[in-house]
Amino acid sequence: MDDENYYCSSCGKEVNANDKICKNCGADLDEVIDDDGMDVVVAAVFYSDVDAEIAKERLEEAGIECYLSGSSDGSMRPSLAFSQGINLMVMKKDLEKAVEYLKGLNIIE
Ligand SMILES: [Zn+2]
Repeated sequence: MDDENYYCSSCGKEVNANDKICKNCGADLDEVIDDDGMDVVVAAVFYSDVDAEIAKERLEEAGIECYLSGSSDGSMRPSLAFSQGINLMVMKKDLEKAVEYLKGLNIIE
């Protein structure tokens, strides 16, 4: 059995993990569990595969999860990537940290 304690976000009383509604105040407990910060957002746009790869490597070194999108799925088409830009994607919760980190390295302005 799971002994982890759960608490109502509305009244603070302990509730069961499986409860949908707080027995004490009737608050909807499903709202307690949200995925805030799990959205993926664009941290920066690059117009060079090399710059994009460098930025990605630096973020990964810093422990920030990220990936590149817009670079035509691995098949190297620099001209296409150049015209569209390559998006450096990070988790929303890491956005500020990622941008500050890249700024600190003068990778982005
Ligand atoms: Zn409650």
